[in-house]
Amino acid sequence: MSEAVVIGGGLAGLLAARVLSRHADRVTVIEGDTYPDGPQQRKGLPQGRQNHMLMAGGAEALDQLLPGTVARLTAAGAHTLRMGQDMLTRSSEGWFRTFEDESYTVACSRPLIDHVVRSQVLGTANITFLESTKAVGLTGDANKVTGVCVERADRSEGVVSGDLVVDASGNRSKASEWLAGMGLPTVKEEFVDAGLTYAGREFEAPAEAAKDFPGVLIQAVPGTGRPGKGAAFMPQEDGRWIVSLIGTQGGQPPTAEEGFMDFARDVGDPVVADIISTARPLTPVRGSRGLANRRRHYHKLPVPDGFLALGDAVMVLSPNYATGMSMAAFGALALRTRLKTHGLEPGLSRKVQDDVAKAGEGPWTMASTTDLFFPGVKTNITVRGAAMQQSMGARYSRTAAANEDVLRAVYEVSTLRSPQSRMMSLPLLAAVLRGPGKPPLTPGQAKAQFPQIGELFASGVKPDLSDAGL
Ligand SMILES: Cc1cc2nc3c(=O)[nH]c(=O)nc-3n(C[C@H](O)[C@H](O)[C@H](O)COP(=O)(O)OP(=O)(O)OC[C@H]3O[C@@H](n4cnc5c(N)ncnc54)[C@H](O)[C@@H]3O)c2cc1C
Repeated sequence: MSEAVVIGGGLAGLLAARVLSRHADRVTVIEGDTYPDGPQQRKGLPQGRQNHMLMAGGAEALDQLLPGTVARLTAAGAHTLRMGQDMLTRSSEGWFRTFEDESYTVACSRPLIDHVVRSQVLGTANITFLESTKAVGLTGDANKVTGVCVERADRSEGVVSGDLVVDASGNRSKASEWLAGMGLPTVKEEFVDAGLTYAGREFEAPAEAAKDFPGVLIQAVPGTGRPGKGAAFMPQEDGRWIVSLIGTQGGQPPTAEEGFMDFARDVGDPVVADIISTARPLTPVRGSRGLANRRRHYHKLPVPDGFLALGDAVMVLSPNYATGMSMAAFGALALRTRLKTHGLEPGLSRKVQDDVAKAGEGPWTMASTTDLFFPGVKTNITVRGAAMQQSMGARYSRTAAANEDVLRAVYEVSTLRSPQSRMMSLPLLAAVLRGPGKPPLTPGQAKAQFPQIGELFASGVKPDLSDAGL
């Protein structure tokens, strides 16, 4: 009988388990947390309280893995926001113009995404979920991983054996230490830490703005010598809004109520502060810290057969670029593709680990190279030509603010529908070298592209805070 074990039942783990259930007789998911019944927050997913954008590439990958997922999200109230028409964006180089385009992001709460995915995987006949059970080590040796040591809620211990062990335990994975304990060389780990902090809060949208309201992105500007500050505002399901304020080392947002609105006014434009000042807060301000880019080079090690790392366990991308959930889905797709030709035979995990590393190369370069240019950054990597890449990136953004072809490519790459090489086509390079050729939009012109924002302010709506009690 063939068995697979997945450590961590978050997005990466659930998707991997589902894929494996078609090829293994039995799949066991070891999850330290307990799942809520519905789309609620849970302890094992602290980032669930911050804004999460599911980029088009990731949404399409999810639909390949679990057909109908995006339709289910939409039915539950998720908004599909077209980058060119439904998103007010102030990039590092100016405001973007609206135009007809196909790139999009799905906006809804992170608990809803996990709930919709979970509810499609939980009932799978040959998947067993061990909730409240922590993985605490691996069994096997330097040639072959054979299972996972677990500790249950009652402190009892045990081993869950498998032909393949997938580590999907997220950012705080301990697998590299466990492997080192089995005699393997230390896994090379790269990090780029700009000291990024998020401060998030949910709001009840005023009734007149609950439908058809745009998302707003104020991007942090690298390379100025000052800390980066930004904001991401998105409509959610159930007439809710979420805002995450963003700041890098030396310019982090307060992670409590005091100073939250002042920071929101100080991110380069006050539009997000103005919008949320019309709404009733539903939650306290919640902080998320320690949001560095980090990748573990498992694919460069003689990792024992039968071990594979997916999702944040192998690469964490700064949330500023909203790509982590998509990478979790791409990892599961890579596993599915290899399983179709290779089955669970020896050698599978190495092939998949290589595929995952390749898929992550572009998003890693984009995130890490940008973050290198925030002051106070801590890193253990040097990127050859980083200054040139950063200045080229700035030129792309500046040109994109006036040129639809360039903006389309920027959106396709940033929503992970196209690889980064898309930016290197000759017509695009020529356009970028010519420059924008049009004056940048003023803040007023940019906002006027979205009459909903003007109407909200004109209505003079004031939130009733009498029962907010926060
Ligand atoms: C503030 C913030 C904002 C973000 N915004 C976005 C965004 O806009 N768009 C986007 O695409 N991504 C975003 N991300 C990234 C995204 O949240 C992650 O990439 C994604 O959750 C990774 O999924 P995962 O399954 O690998 O890890 P996780 O979601 O972290 O899941 C890991 C699971 O493993 C369990 N676990 C951990 N250790 C053990 C153990 N020892 N034993 C058993 N179980 C264990 C945990 O309980 C959890 O259920 C954001 C991240 C942060 C921090």
